[in-house]
Amino acid sequence: MNKDVDSALHVLKGAVQDVLGATLTTSVFADGPKGRLTVEMGQNPSDEEMQMVEESANRKIEQNVPIEMFRMDREKAELTYGDIIYDRFPIPEEVKELTLTMIGGWNINCCRGPHHKRTGTVPSIRIVKWRHRPARRELEISFMLGT
Ligand SMILES: [Zn+2]
Repeated sequence: MNKDVDSALHVLKGAVQDVLGATLTTSVFADGPKGRLTVEMGQNPSDEEMQMVEESANRKIEQNVPIEMFRMDREKAELTYGDIIYDRFPIPEEVKELTLTMIGGWNINCCRGPHHKRTGTVPSIRIVKWRHRPARRELEISFMLGT
């Protein structure tokens, strides 16, 4: 995954969690400056809510906060941050140390990147469409960077 889209996914996920309360990512996809984030969600969000998600993500980019990466003992990481660090991507049991990526107070999960060092250099995020799939209880959010 490229650095721009990977970093944008962390920023966008924080906004999705903040605005919509969706906490678990089920899949991610990148293709050049385009990306897609899929999260578990029971309801179809309104246009206004999705606009708030986009604004919230771009505000976090403007704030230019650090995107920190660090390694941590697995047990300690689970105790400190909870299972949320895995989203829906299980990590084999034999892995005892995790690489965590954190935007303070916004988003944390296991990810090796690559990432920007701060949100300020991440291109702006435009949500181009979204699709709610009730049977799967998933929300797919397609976005484009830097436009
Ligand atoms: Zn990442």
